[in-house]
Amino acid sequence: MKQTICDNLKKIKNETPENVLLVAVSKTKPNSDIMSAYACDQRDFGENKVQELVAKHEQLPQDIRWHMIGHLQRNKVKYIAPFVFLIHSVDNLKLLKEIEKQAAKHQRQLQVLLQIKIAKEDTKFGMDEETLHTIITQYQAGEFPNVRIKGLMGMATNTDDTIQIASEFAYLHRLYIKSKSQLKEMEYLSMGMSHDYKIAITHGSNLIRVGSAIFGARNYSI
Ligand SMILES: *Cc1c(COP(=O)(O)O)cnc(C)c1O
Repeated sequence: MKQTICDNLKKIKNETPENVLLVAVSKTKPNSDIMSAYACDQRDFGENKVQELVAKHEQLPQDIRWHMIGHLQRNKVKYIAPFVFLIHSVDNLKLLKEIEKQAAKHQRQLQVLLQIKIAKEDTKFGMDEETLHTIITQYQAGEFPNVRIKGLMGMATNTDDTIQIASEFAYLHRLYIKSKSQLKEMEYLSMGMSHDYKIAITHGSNLIRVGSAIFGARNYSI
C-alpha cells in the first residue's frame, strides 16, 4: 500500500516526543503536497530558497508558519521579512545586522536561530563558537532591538557514521545549554533531518526539519 504524506507525518509524530516541533521541509515540492500535509494539521513548513518561500507564502493559507532554513543572502532578507516565522540560518554578523534593519523597517520582531558549523564538510554553512559569543554579547548590549535570538541550528555531516553524527549533535547541544544559560529566551535547538532526526532528538533537539521522510525523495532535475 502506498504511504501517503499524512501517514508519514503521523508516523514521525508518533515516534517523536511532544516537546519536539516538526518542521515539514517542502522545498521543490508542489503546493498540492503542502496542502496534503496542511489537511493533516501540519502548520510549520520549511524552505531553503527565498523565491520559492515567497511564492508559496503568497499562494497558500495564511496561518502557515514559514521557516527559512537555507543559506540566506543579505540582499534577499527584505523579501521574507514581512512574514517569515523563524530564520534558522543566521551564520554571520552582517546578515544579522541586515535582519535587524529589515525588522525595524517592517515594524515587527524577527525571530532567528544562529547556525553553528558542526559538520566536517566545507560545504555546510555556519559560524564558529567565537562568533556566537560575539553576537550574544552584542545582542545583550542591546544592538539588535528588533531581533529575537530564539536558539541554535546545526547540520551534521552527511555520513552513515552514526557515532560521528551523534558527537556533532552532542557538541551543539552542549553549546546550546551554555548559550541558553546566558540568554534565557532561547527555546529552540534545531537539529535533525530525515536520516538523523532520531539521533538528534536523543541529543537534545527540540526542532527537527524533515523533508524526504514526509514528502518522498526530491527530484532536482525538473
Ligand atoms: C533539505 C533540508 C532539510 C531536510 O532534508 P531531508 O533529508 O529531506 O529531511 C533539513 N534542513 C535543511 C537546512 C535542508 O536544507
